[in-house]
Amino acid sequence: MPSFDYDLFVIGGGSGGVRSARLAASMGKKVAIAEEYRFGGTCVIRGCVPKKLFVYASQFSEHFEDAAGFGWTVGESRFDWKALIAAKDKEIERLEGLYRKGVTNAGAEVFETRALIEGPNAVRLVSTGHVVTAERILIAVGGAPNPHEALPGHELCISSNEAFHLEALPKSILIAGGGYIAVEFANIFHGLGVETTLVYRGKEILSRFDVDLRRRLHEAMEAKGVRIICHDVIEEVRETSSGARTARLKGGEVLNVDQVMLALGRDPYTKTLGLENAGVETNAKGAIVVDEYSRTNVHSIFALGDVTDRVQLTPVAIHEAMCFIETEYKGNPTSPDHDLIATAVFSQPEIGTVGYGEEEASKAFEEIEVYRAEFRPLKATLSGRTEKTLMKLIVNAADRKVVGAHILGHDAGEMAQILGITLKAGCTKDDFDRTMAVHPTASEELVTMYQPTYRIRNGERV
Ligand code: NDP
Repeated sequence: MPSFDYDLFVIGGGSGGVRSARLAASMGKKVAIAEEYRFGGTCVIRGCVPKKLFVYASQFSEHFEDAAGFGWTVGESRFDWKALIAAKDKEIERLEGLYRKGVTNAGAEVFETRALIEGPNAVRLVSTGHVVTAERILIAVGGAPNPHEALPGHELCISSNEAFHLEALPKSILIAGGGYIAVEFANIFHGLGVETTLVYRGKEILSRFDVDLRRRLHEAMEAKGVRIICHDVIEEVRETSSGARTARLKGGEVLNVDQVMLALGRDPYTKTLGLENAGVETNAKGAIVVDEYSRTNVHSIFALGDVTDRVQLTPVAIHEAMCFIETEYKGNPTSPDHDLIATAVFSQPEIGTVGYGEEEASKAFEEIEVYRAEFRPLKATLSGRTEKTLMKLIVNAADRKVVGAHILGHDAGEMAQILGITLKAGCTKDDFDRTMAVHPTASEELVTMYQPTYRIRNGERV
């Protein structure tokens, strides 16, 4: 048996890497983990967590307005961008410390350096040049924003990375993309008082979501004052003499804005990782190719999380890490379950969703029943807001199973988590019907939609 410096060497201190290192070390394995920047990865440092804090910050403008309907008089309000950044940075520093402590307390060794694959069992630590060996190497380096190098002037644009540390809040912004990040940041900037325009190449934003959610969110965002331009893309970005940006769209329109933000997907962070030194296979997008147990084509090298481009979500990376530990260190081969992942878009209003959208379901099943409720939430009666909540259940008529659940409205993300359990458990519409409502809540609609709004049989609405 060859001997190695470590049982496991993890490259990348994000959600997947930290979970793997911590669990393996706590089982008594000799573990090392290398992180070139900050522990916590995209989610903690420049993703989910700071984004959600920004979402909260951006919602206060509406809270102040809504307060009047409930008898409150709110004095003059002002927003201080620098104060938000400082408070956010302090919280992120705290979380980063917890992530680091998690691995060191479990007994893993931490290397604050970039690490490169040097061979099937060897890793080079860039800061010192040392090469260490490990029985297993786990790559969990995540992804990075697609820089869209084909766009003239792309270097003048920001990505979500920079949005968390802008020196000043822009007065106006143009955001390119129609996915999670573009939509979430459009709402954040708008809520903070920035004149916001979204430009998306397709017919409707959020292309992978249920059609009703997409349309209703689009309408709600426009009603708030976000400008959305579909069927168009940015063709060129230039800097003006005052340091602002001019963006020319393919459709001919020219927009003068303080910032242009690109949110056009995230690429696996595999360039210059030394994968070729061990012959690790990647796909056309640069993602590491893995099997159902997160094994690469090299027997000693594994990969999980965004770098494998399976499903780019934090909880998925964590789940893949736990499966890796079960398989490799507990003798219990476990492959990650990527089916029926509930997800939220922290737009305003929020989206919470799990399972098939209407279009997909009507192709997958011979007949579906669609239960749909759209109503003004109770809070909006006194606040005077016109925003509506939308709830939709998709049921496979053959076995009555609920195969899709979609919500647009307050706390939709929280509801999606619970709905995720019901779909995973294979609950039928009858299970929903015999569940007592919690009153008065918005979610009670989910168990009181007794009659289908319409059916779709063989792709035709009947
Ligand atoms: P998404 O994949 O969600 O969206 C990318 C968007 O960019 C799509 O609208 C896509 O259009 C568009 N696009 C891609 N390439 C081009 C191009 N060359 N020109 C014009 N438009 C283009 O990526 P995001 O960057 O928004 O987010 C990355 C990932 O991070 C997400 O997939 C998600 O998994 C994760 N994330 C999750 C969040 C959450 O859970 N709340 C929040 C933020 C991110 P089209 O639709 O036509 O392909």
